[in-house]
Amino acid sequence: MKFSIHAGHNSFVPGARGYISEEFVNRKIKVATIRYLRAAGQTVYDDTDDYGRTQNENLAAIVHKVNKHRDLDLAVSIHLNAGGGTGIEVYQYDEKTNGVAGRILNNICEVTGLTNRGLKKNQSFYVLRNTKPSALLIECGFVDTKTDAMLVASKTEVIGHAIAEGMLGKNIQTRNAASRTSTHEFDQSLPAEVKGTKRSVVKLVSSYPGYLIKRGSRGEEVKRIQRALSVTADGIFGVKTEAAVRNYQKRHQLTVDGVVGPKTWAQLFAA
Ligand SMILES: [Zn+2]
Repeated sequence: MKFSIHAGHNSFVPGARGYISEEFVNRKIKVATIRYLRAAGQTVYDDTDDYGRTQNENLAAIVHKVNKHRDLDLAVSIHLNAGGGTGIEVYQYDEKTNGVAGRILNNICEVTGLTNRGLKKNQSFYVLRNTKPSALLIECGFVDTKTDAMLVASKTEVIGHAIAEGMLGKNIQTRNAASRTSTHEFDQSLPAEVKGTKRSVVKLVSSYPGYLIKRGSRGEEVKRIQRALSVTADGIFGVKTEAAVRNYQKRHQLTVDGVVGPKTWAQLFAA
């Protein structure tokens, strides 16, 4: 598929200010989103504008760039909110984009734990009104609410991943997923002579991969979790794995949601 993504605002016409600067964090989220989409083989244009000197120039430049591409499936505008509040909201021009907008919204709420403020219809936002392809405007939390701001600024990578997965409607396995597998997996999959050379990577592998592992997830991380829980390690996070995770969470006084996030991961793989 073909996508256009841009980060809102620029240094001449900065966005909202609070505990963090909107245009700066917008760009970090934008970069992560594009990277994950490209890793999944998608065509993505970065239509961020760094030169517009007024808000109108900035918006017009963005729309001009978006409309130069042919056959785009979707344009996505990344912003942060302000005005005192908390949570995530996604704006769309009309209900046609309910599916993809809802997925993005739910995904971001899930990885940040922030409130779902809902899907909003808006036919006056310049970008939503003027781009040829359908466009969505994502407000990734509030710059002037400390908890939102700190959380979002520290999670630009997982938010980008969540947006990319929402746009595609499927999980994105990163290419370097293999470098996060456990020592055991290295030992089994590498010829004897290279085993030693990979030791240095082993330290990294205990760290949380940076996104939620849950029903529908697949891959080496799922296998690792399954082995830790003594479930058949088929790499597919299904009903049985979920039940085992819930059980484990119950026994360890973790939030019982059947999802492996940073806390459950840390408990499972504590050194
Ligand atoms: Zn903005």
